[in-house]
Amino acid sequence: MPIQSINAELCIGCGTCVSRCPMDVLRLLTSPAAKNQQSPCSAACPLGVNQREYHNLIELDMLDEAAELLAKYHPMPAITGRICPHPCETPCSRAIVDSAVNINGLEQYLGDYLLEAVTVKAPAESGHEVAVIGSGPAGLAAAYHLAQQGVSVTVYEREDNIGGLLRTSIPSFRLPAEVLDKQIDAYKKMGIRFVTGAKITDASELEAKGFDAVIAATGASKPLKLTVPGAEAKGITTAIEFLYDVKARQPADLTGKKVAVIGGGSVALDAARTGVRIGAESVQVVCLERIEPGHKDSMLALSEEIEDAKAEGVVIHTSRSVHTIEQENGQASALTLVECASVRDADGRFNPVLAEQPLDEAIEADFIILAIGQTTDATLVPAGFQTNERGQILCDPSTKQSASHLFAVGDAVTGPTTVVVAAAAGKRAATSVVRFLKGDAMTEGQSAEPQAFDVSVLTEQACAEISKFPRVERRRLPIEQCKTSFAETLKVFDWDEAASEAERCLTCGSQAEIQYQADCQICNLCAHYCPVDAIEITPERTFPPITAWG
Ligand SMILES: Cc1cc2nc3c(=O)[nH]c(=O)nc-3n(C[C@H](O)[C@H](O)[C@H](O)COP(=O)(O)OP(=O)(O)OC[C@H]3O[C@@H](n4cnc5c(N)ncnc54)[C@H](O)[C@@H]3O)c2cc1C
Ligand code: SF4
Ligand code: SF4
Repeated sequence: MPIQSINAELCIGCGTCVSRCPMDVLRLLTSPAAKNQQSPCSAACPLGVNQREYHNLIELDMLDEAAELLAKYHPMPAITGRICPHPCETPCSRAIVDSAVNINGLEQYLGDYLLEAVTVKAPAESGHEVAVIGSGPAGLAAAYHLAQQGVSVTVYEREDNIGGLLRTSIPSFRLPAEVLDKQIDAYKKMGIRFVTGAKITDASELEAKGFDAVIAATGASKPLKLTVPGAEAKGITTAIEFLYDVKARQPADLTGKKVAVIGGGSVALDAARTGVRIGAESVQVVCLERIEPGHKDSMLALSEEIEDAKAEGVVIHTSRSVHTIEQENGQASALTLVECASVRDADGRFNPVLAEQPLDEAIEADFIILAIGQTTDATLVPAGFQTNERGQILCDPSTKQSASHLFAVGDAVTGPTTVVVAAAAGKRAATSVVRFLKGDAMTEGQSAEPQAFDVSVLTEQACAEISKFPRVERRRLPIEQCKTSFAETLKVFDWDEAASEAERCLTCGSQAEIQYQADCQICNLCAHYCPVDAIEITPERTFPPITAWG
């Protein structure tokens, strides 16, 4: 039997040996141990997804296993794989070698595979009944993780369609309706029930129906209004209204219109790019922020969204605010602008500093879309839940418990955030509700901060051992087609692309261990490819004698 060992001082848990071993001898250690650290990507994902686990399995073409693992942590990967701002990619260790792994692209690939090929089953029901109010990502995630634990769930939604802002606002060129439909079908197959056209005004209605616990996930989609001279003119709408009309009602006729969108976040760019697609003559964005990634006053929209919008013909005026909305016969006709010297103060608080005098520049605009933020709508919060002065539902930040059997999650609690943050809150609430129903301790282990992998072990020398190869990007729809259709702009990876990109993952975090030493054939591949020379094999490689078989 070969004698081999992995030097714990040197091992960086990159997983290279695990993926190179043709005999499947090695594993990554997952039990708690001194060096058992979470990968930086996993620590940065609000859902705590363990990316390196399934990256490795994609590379090995074990897609069913990969998808089942992902489904354990993640209630909607096909959705976030398209629209998550991917905070997990920022600290990715691979960036030290060349560039971050395209975690979002791999998530989309596996999320789509999960919806097509794998049925997530829910265990037998425990006899407990829980109601969720609101079918946005926070409510859907809570329902999914409750169903996963055998709880019977009913989701109440005031609209006729399920999905919250995923359904009513996020444009289909970024999130096609078919993807959301398939995800909802998968939830229904798990046994989750949906009641639409059902606005809940009082939590006691649900108690009377016999529910053991209630989770409110009512969102924060009430648009903020602009207070400048001319704000009452005709031809002004909000991004929430405009996008809802385009997606689900009668879209505005923008033929020959000069559109101005006010705001510098994803919502503003979604409205602007939608305006291009429905035939506006021109689309201009006016925002306080700058296009300078890393700067405190940088635009909140992602760099790729800004680049896409510009490529589609949107003109962005940065460091500008609206001074006056000019009108002709009561109809908006132009915007007079004023310079914005600074957006956030030294503590990062929103505190714009505007010049006293307007600029001698105006932009023509007869259709104006406001995308300057949203807030909670207190009239949607059911009686029984306590709110603060901003209408946000009060709850324990760790357990999401609002009062005994009442829990609250998502934008309704925090104000506008992102899908992954809302979904993570839903997942957290599901854990708390199950503990509440069983009478277990609510807080235990719920607020522990993950211990992230220390990237300092990736020294220059260790990185030099890892072959560089470029990040695989998703293919884009040709720009002319983008401008005139709502077809999805980013194409999902095919298997070759996914496998190549998954191979770039260093699977950093826990260390490797030898699990099936008896199977080792001393081929030396693990030691050969290990970037930090952590594997020792004894005896040294000796070639087997030539036999009659050659
Ligand atoms: C245009 C736009 C683009 C965005 N783009 C992105 C993006 O690219 N990536 C990203 O991560 N995030 C994005 N977001 C943010 C993201 O959509 C939200 O953070 C997320 O949807 C919040 O989820 P939620 O479940 O808390 O609320 P919501 O999605 O708002 O869902 C709340 C649901 O509750 C229902 N409801 C409310 N009150 C009641 C009641 N009393 N009874 C029954 N039902 C009720 C509502 O009808 C709604 O369906 C975007 C938002 C907008 C507006
Ligand atoms: S949900 Fe977002 S943060 Fe989490 S792994 Fe996916 S892309 Fe990264
Ligand atoms: S290299 Fe892989 S495991 Fe490490 S941070 Fe990047 S995606 Fe995560």
